[in-house]
Amino acid sequence: MPKLNENILKMEKNYLFINIAKKINAFKENNPDADIIRMGIGDVTLPIAPVVIDAMKKGCDEMGVKETFKGYEDSGAGYDFLKKAVSDYYKKLGADVAPDEIRINDGAKSDCGNIVDIFGNDNIILVTDPAYPVYVDSNRMSGRKIIYADSNEENGFAAMPDFSVHADIIYLCSPNNPTGSVYTSEQLKVWIDYAKANDAVIIYDSAYEAFITDANIPRSIYCVEGAKECAIEMCSLSKTAGFTGMRCGYTVIPDTLVYRSENGSDVPLSQLWNRRQGSKFNGVSYPVQCAAAAVFTDEGQRQIHENIAYYQENARIISDTMTKLGIKFTGGVNSPYIWFKCPNNMDSWDFFDLMLAEIYVVGTPGSGFGKNGEGWFRLTAFGDRQRTIEAMERFEKFVNNMK
Ligand code: PLP
Repeated sequence: MPKLNENILKMEKNYLFINIAKKINAFKENNPDADIIRMGIGDVTLPIAPVVIDAMKKGCDEMGVKETFKGYEDSGAGYDFLKKAVSDYYKKLGADVAPDEIRINDGAKSDCGNIVDIFGNDNIILVTDPAYPVYVDSNRMSGRKIIYADSNEENGFAAMPDFSVHADIIYLCSPNNPTGSVYTSEQLKVWIDYAKANDAVIIYDSAYEAFITDANIPRSIYCVEGAKECAIEMCSLSKTAGFTGMRCGYTVIPDTLVYRSENGSDVPLSQLWNRRQGSKFNGVSYPVQCAAAAVFTDEGQRQIHENIAYYQENARIISDTMTKLGIKFTGGVNSPYIWFKCPNNMDSWDFFDLMLAEIYVVGTPGSGFGKNGEGWFRLTAFGDRQRTIEAMERFEKFVNNMK
């Protein structure tokens, strides 16, 4: 009989969004006519930019011609044309990342989860709380010790390190999911100093960097001095360019990331990652990589920013409603997420149930992202404009009635 991974059995039975989907389905069964507006799951709704679709179609056509057909990609880490496009993009953000330090993947979630393979199970993992659940879940599956840095109302949901506590692997996310908060360069420098003092590695998730509007907020950790000696960065085209159904992202592992193995030799993390990927990953499809490369062209950037601007306007509509109602919130600027305090000090799930029952609007209970999320709630700006306006009209009446 196979021995099971008992660590998984110790976790909550379902991933957060499966629980939410179940609740909505149960509600729909009892209220078939309810006009539900979904502002919970962080999926995009606008179609992919035409220039990106054209590039994908061209890639498909090439696959149907003997001379241009592509089979397995040699390294599985991405075609040179895409890695070069990403490297050039980093230059525009003010970061120096060489094409060979970039690995193309099928989305940031995979690498956020898979990166644990290259580290031993006796590492101490530091996660800011609340957090995107994948960081905690992937480490719990391998039974690792996890400690938390509190993000809360007092620090504007931007946790900072406690230098008296040791960690080996640190997860940071900016702009943050779920709180929408962002780290300044000065704050990131403190995290880099902390990582270096602990000989630790930072796993930096920049999946929402394209939503940053404030020129002073870094769009990559590599814009901050010292990051290339201690940080891996993961980014995604899912929210940047509507790739949630296409699947493409990239991970940067700088050559300068070198750590000591048990036998005393210095080992680049890139070597371990390449070995891991060589055994477990065969790369992203050629047409999708063609599409991804089009995102980084001038026309691609122009078109994807039209969509981003649409979501940013939704975020403004939601934020304005919170401000009008006197509700405390973070995010909404530099981020597609609005993270607000539940009215009347309600707990997150009670508020979820009440809001669904009263106004048929769905959001995400903050407690699903960690203990500091209790009493908070996340709405996303990825919906349709008219539905967002309608949801906020319902929300305003609902909250005013609660007062
Ligand atoms: N990182 C964060 C912070 C996210 O919120 C998400 C998706 O919601 C991801 C990574 C994963 O994105 P992808 O679709 O590229 O797997």
